[in-house]
Amino acid sequence: TITKETREFQAETKQLLDLMVHSIYTNREIFLRELISNASDAIDKIRFESLTNHQLLEENSDFEIFIIPDEATNTLTISDNGIGMTYDEVIENIGTIAKSGTKAFIEKLKNVGSATDNELIGQFGVGFYSAFMVSDKVTLLTRAPGQEKGVRWESTGDGTYTLEECDKEKRGTTIILTLNEKYRSAENPEENFLNRYTIQNLVKKYSDYIRYPIKMNFIKEEKPRDSDGKVIKDAPATQSIEVRTLNSMTPLWIRNKNEISKEEYHNFYRNFFHDWEDPLEIIHSKVEGAVEYTSMLFIPAHAPFDFYQRESKSGIRLYSKNVFIMDNCQDLLPEYLRFVRGLVDSPDFSLNISRELLQHSSQLKRVGKNLEKSVLKTLESLLNKDRPKYEEFWKEYGRAIKSGVYLDYNSRDKLQNLLLFASSYSAEGLTTLDEYITRMPENQKAIYYATGKDRSSVERLPQMELLRDKGIEVLYLFDRVDEFAIDALREYKEKKFQSISRGTLDLDDIDSTKSKKDIEEISKENESLIKAIKEQLTGKISDVKISSRLKSSAVCLVSDDNGISLSMEQILSEMNK
Ligand code: ADP
Ligand code: MG
Repeated sequence: TITKETREFQAETKQLLDLMVHSIYTNREIFLRELISNASDAIDKIRFESLTNHQLLEENSDFEIFIIPDEATNTLTISDNGIGMTYDEVIENIGTIAKSGTKAFIEKLKNVGSATDNELIGQFGVGFYSAFMVSDKVTLLTRAPGQEKGVRWESTGDGTYTLEECDKEKRGTTIILTLNEKYRSAENPEENFLNRYTIQNLVKKYSDYIRYPIKMNFIKEEKPRDSDGKVIKDAPATQSIEVRTLNSMTPLWIRNKNEISKEEYHNFYRNFFHDWEDPLEIIHSKVEGAVEYTSMLFIPAHAPFDFYQRESKSGIRLYSKNVFIMDNCQDLLPEYLRFVRGLVDSPDFSLNISRELLQHSSQLKRVGKNLEKSVLKTLESLLNKDRPKYEEFWKEYGRAIKSGVYLDYNSRDKLQNLLLFASSYSAEGLTTLDEYITRMPENQKAIYYATGKDRSSVERLPQMELLRDKGIEVLYLFDRVDEFAIDALREYKEKKFQSISRGTLDLDDIDSTKSKKDIEEISKENESLIKAIKEQLTGKISDVKISSRLKSSAVCLVSDDNGISLSMEQILSEMNK
């Protein structure tokens, strides 16, 4: 047998531990997530190996993770019946830093010095060692299946650890944290890790979808009751223990799509994202290959009431193998899809990832590209297969899509097919650009649009007369972002967008009632009239022209080809007020 020995941590480990203990990093609660995820990994391993070697289970196959806060000893214990570790494995896994993430952390540390230590911890998270952030002493008891003896490992995080053989009846690993007094104080319940409710909340927050039960004993105190069922006030309370499972375990997203009912999706969505309505659309996909992930995205039925006023903060939740990594990750989807709620679970995401690192993560970029594509594909098929539902969508989020067109240069092509506009074609429905184009008469070279505050004011524009007469469809833009989007697109399928109140309309080819030549002649004949009008209106207008644009009105105001449009002018002058 091996007697108790004391060993030194690797220099790098020492450095790391020192940092754990002394850093002022505030998010220390993540230690629990780290230890639970190790326990879950260990159970995964034994479960996997027992498939080919059933004896490994030693008749202990009710996999579970148990948490025991103990006020009497100031300890918090986390135990599992996973794969455990042999003596050598403990030295290998716990005594040294083999993990690439931790290695990278140390490297970075060497480069930047100590000034930003605490930020660095936040960036990397550090697995097992995070236990030292809240503990004066960490004790680990473990036994691998088939081993007669277990191993006891212990350290105060001061540079050395002790190792000895011990008896351990149950297979698996037990980690006993002797909590630092700061982390067991009733004055600070959120960081009191002896408080059962604090622990319960942390498990819900970080580890709800760990697939093994995470259990804890709750002590129930009850006064006895008399024969009428009334509580006997003076009698001493009796204590009983109730074992509760803290996590809900089955992540809906890992289940098969065709096994999940609509109800289940809806319940999940409402609970998970605190919405009182069912979502408009659900996009659940499993992707395997170069990048591996499961995603579950939802389009809420309604945009939040302040969606367009503020910088909306909601984003995607990230998980790695059911372990929560972060909320509201904004880097996955482009800004114009910020109304999408949901989550992504990928084994390729590192638990030790930070917001800052995330932006540079190539996996994340690839997943993000895929998600964007699948959302757009879903919207496209909604547009083609369920127009009323798409129009509902459009009513809520159309402005976000339009803003994508003018703010996100690279997305223009992808988004233009999704745009809907009111038009002179029909008083009720909306039209896509494609639909407009298919209705265009031969020789029409431009897509015409008019801007105004509503349908009736657009239809009263004098410029509308001629187009109406010629039977040319005009898109109606009522929203200021419509015009920004149109301006950004410039053209669609080689048809230029043409404002009916800007420059010359060039309708001659479509149907020539008055040709260019006619106009030139009329202009010449009326030269003196034009001159007189110009003189009268000096400073208010820049030019007077004979126009083919009018039918029953005598004059209309237009802006020049290069100038900004009238409605844009209105917007600008409002902004200047
Ligand atoms: P990681 O989990 O990323 O590998 P950790 O620092 O969290 O890094 O853990 C280091 C190693 O210690 C693990 O890879 C595993 O081999 C071992 N280990 C930690 N906790 C347990 C446990 N509960 N049961 C078995 N092995 C464990
Ligand atoms: Mg770990």
